[in-house]
Formats: sequence, C-alpha cells, structure tokens
Amino acid sequence: MESIRPSSLQDFIGQERVRKVLQILCRSAKAKGAAVSHALLSGPPGLGKTTLARIVANEMRSRLVETIGGNLQTPEQLSGLLRSLKPLDVLFIDEIHAMPRSVEEILYPAMEDGTVSIVKTESSDFMKALGVQAKPATEMVALPPFTLLGASTMSGLVSSPLRSRFAHELILEPYSHDDLARIVLRASRTMGVELNPGIAMEVARRSRSTARIAVGHLRWLIEYSSGLGVAPDINAVQDAFAMRDVDACGLTGQDRRYLEMLILAGQPLGLASVSAALNETVETIEQAMEPHLIREGLLRRAPRGRVATERAREMFATPQEVGS
Ligand code: ADP
Repeated sequence: MESIRPSSLQDFIGQERVRKVLQILCRSAKAKGAAVSHALLSGPPGLGKTTLARIVANEMRSRLVETIGGNLQTPEQLSGLLRSLKPLDVLFIDEIHAMPRSVEEILYPAMEDGTVSIVKTESSDFMKALGVQAKPATEMVALPPFTLLGASTMSGLVSSPLRSRFAHELILEPYSHDDLARIVLRASRTMGVELNPGIAMEVARRSRSTARIAVGHLRWLIEYSSGLGVAPDINAVQDAFAMRDVDACGLTGQDRRYLEMLILAGQPLGLASVSAALNETVETIEQAMEPHLIREGLLRRAPRGRVATERAREMFATPQEVGS
C-alpha cells in the first residue's frame, strides 16, 4: 500500500534539481558499493527534507538513524551515536545548526576522514593501587562508511567549517501550484479518494508553496466532505477553508491582521513590535508568515522595518470574501 509520504525518488514530486542530484548520488554509490556522500538539505519547513532523507536510505536499502541537532548537547552524545553506526547507515540530523560548536567539531573528522576521537582516562590496576590518576589520552577510532544528511531551515546559521565538509548543499525551493496540485492528487489517491484535478489546484493555491500544508489542507477537505457526507467539490472547498479561516490565496486570519496593522500604521514597523502585537514569535513571523506574504507581493522587508505593498492596500480597500 502506497503511503502519503513518497518512499522513492521516482514518486517524489517537484524539486527536480535536488531529486536529480540525489538520483545520481544514489546510483553512483550503489555502483561502488559505497555510502552516499554527505549532503546538506536546506529550505523552509515542510518542503520535504525529512522525506528525502528517508527516501535516500530507502533507495540505498540502508538503515536510517534520525535525530535533531538540539538533542545533541554534548560531544559524548554525538560520538556515541557515531560509534553505534553500522556500515552504509544514513545518519539524518534535522536542524543541524542547533548543535553547540563543541558538538559540531566531532563531525569534522567524522565527515572528512571517517574517524572519531574518544578520550581514554583508564588507569591501570597498579596505578590505581598507588592512587595515581592517569592523564586523559585521546584515541582516534575508525567509523564504518556512513552518510550524513544534515537538514536546516536556517542554513545561514550552519557554520562555515561544517558547511564546507558537506560534499553537496541541496537547496529546496517553494513548490509551484502545479507541483502542489500533483502532490495533492497523489496523496488523495493514497487516501482512497478520487479528486478532480481542478479541486486539487484549488487546494494547491491555498497551500503557501509548501507540501506539508497542501497535505494538511487535503486531509481537512476529505474529513470535511466525509463528515458532512458531501462531495469534495468547489462548494466544499469554499466552506471547508472558510471554516479554517484560509482564503483563496492561502492567507490566514493572522496574515490579514498583520497586513491590516501595517496599513494602519502607515510607516515601517519593526519585527519586535509586530511580534508583540500579533502575539507570535519572531521565528514564526519570519519563517512561516512572511515568506508567503512576500511571494504574494503583499509585504516588503525594508531597512527600517516591515511595509505593506500597494497590492496589499488595494486588497484591503476592496471587501474581502473569505474563500472566494
Ligand atoms: P521538512 O522535513 O522539509 O520539514 P517533510 O519531509 O517532513 O518536510 O515533509 C512534510 C510533509 O509533506 C510530509 O508529510 C510529506 O508527506 C509531504 N511531502 C513533502 N514533499 C513532498 C513531495 N515532494 N511529494 C509528496 N509529498 C511531499
């Protein structure tokens, strides 16, 4: 049974450039019986980084070991994890920029020479009897060949020594409406629902160029239709998304409040004041809200703060009908 998350590169929709590079890397590694070279996947949340890491492990018939950078707080945790790897394992570290520098440094020799240093402080029985403490000694231990796939939503925060040790940096781009519509159609088939392509496009348009949002919207549309016993048609789309407070181009109530606030202010607003007024974190505003508003041509990041564009003013000058 097919799953919603694609499990092969062939089934992965969109991100053509990244997909092709990964296809080449997997084929070449398979031909050599070697591990895929280390790669950094970067891009906003929900574009498919985790999915691609799982696909690489699947294509290579390798074991996938998954963790997140924030969970690796001490060098010992990371060296222990590296030493537990088996030949050709794929180690996926999500949000790799969140590791402290002292932990990250463990990765440098691991990625470059396939080694990890361990500290030995064992005293011999004779020394123990004399009460003498041995000096800690470091020993380099060889690791089995493995692949490190790092992912980051904030690739600017990945330090340059770490970044330079990746053989490839693969940047995921926002999805086009066409690709999202194909993702929605494929996902609906895996959910056992036959969706009209026009309806898939309506879902795509509301999905902020993001695969995760498209899949989430689709689930809601299917729940809504089956819950009310109606067909997933254009009426269902309009009612279901009005209920979610999502309009025809994917703006939420919070996006609209943000734009209205900027229009009323009539001058650039700093991120801290926006965050306080909307009761949202700076990260959510910068990563989840603004990219879509900027792509839609509704917001500008100016030197003195955030500004609503002429298009946003026009949009709010005419009455908005949610879901229209
Ligand atoms: P990220 O790790 O970049 O935050 P994920 O890999 O977790 O994103 O993807 C989020 C969701 O979107 C997953 O449930 C996956 O099923 C779906 N998805 C992502 N990219 C695609 C794609 N290209 N085709 C189909 N589904 C996708």
